[in-house]
Amino acid sequence: MEWKIVLSFIFFIFVIILLVFYWILPIGELIEFGISSPGHANFTLNTSLGQGMQFYENMRYQSPNISYRIDSCPLAREDEMKRAFDFLEINTILNFYEVNSKEEISVTCEDSVKGERGLFIAGEGGVTNVTITENFNVIFNGKVSLLRESKCPNPIVGTHELLHALGFDHSDNPNNMMYPTVKCKQTVGDDLVNYISWIYSFPRLSDLSFENTSASMKGGYISLVMTIRNNGLKNSENSTIIIYADNKSIKEFEMGSIQVGSGRIITLSNIFVMRRNINELEFFIEYDFEELNKDNNRITLEIKE
Ligand SMILES: [Zn+2]
Repeated sequence: MEWKIVLSFIFFIFVIILLVFYWILPIGELIEFGISSPGHANFTLNTSLGQGMQFYENMRYQSPNISYRIDSCPLAREDEMKRAFDFLEINTILNFYEVNSKEEISVTCEDSVKGERGLFIAGEGGVTNVTITENFNVIFNGKVSLLRESKCPNPIVGTHELLHALGFDHSDNPNNMMYPTVKCKQTVGDDLVNYISWIYSFPRLSDLSFENTSASMKGGYISLVMTIRNNGLKNSENSTIIIYADNKSIKEFEMGSIQVGSGRIITLSNIFVMRRNINELEFFIEYDFEELNKDNNRITLEIKE
């Protein structure tokens, strides 16, 4: 009788070992997952609004309150520039404030650009630091070199250069301030004012979303890769990434802050799950703060056919 018990015990142990091997070893067919519902409802900006007005599409500073510093300008030109800031404050939704350092718009009056473009140039304005995101071309720094004042009731020259620093290109309309040559009767133009109202209507928020996500499974192990990007107007605070396999959380980790336009590539290999038949994976960005768009915080992957 004894040997029977011993044999069945050995058999029992053998089955247990087989089961353990079946669950623990990454054996079996490689299953690949692809995006099923991208949830990628990134709000589409109506780019036709600013068609041809700006150097690139959807250029704006992070906030409608923009800092500036005026460095080594003769009084008349400093006055022209301050009147230009006032002029745009009155005519648009923008606000400008003076700082001593780390300014967004730098105003100088050095004559260094004079020789390059001939005698008639009144100044030079432009954008010096732009970060490209999916939604906006976010301007971090702009520059104005003012070479003369306008001697007009309105500060035409200062405003023209300031609008370049805000991302605006020249206009073909001789009555528009963005026309390449200055005339005192020129105006700022309703289309430009409306465009500024629209492009700055989006609040200064982060916008975290997934990019390039994929996953595969072998045996009871899941491997995945994902990019999390901030397409917003503000550096993000910490967020938590949660991965679900058929609605059950299998992995959770902190993301930390992500700068505007930056992304993080995450690769996770061999996450052990106590199952071998998973149909759906879901990646979720848990972010406790407001965002430009929350709909793109979730992405679902299904087994590829
Ligand atoms: Zn110009």
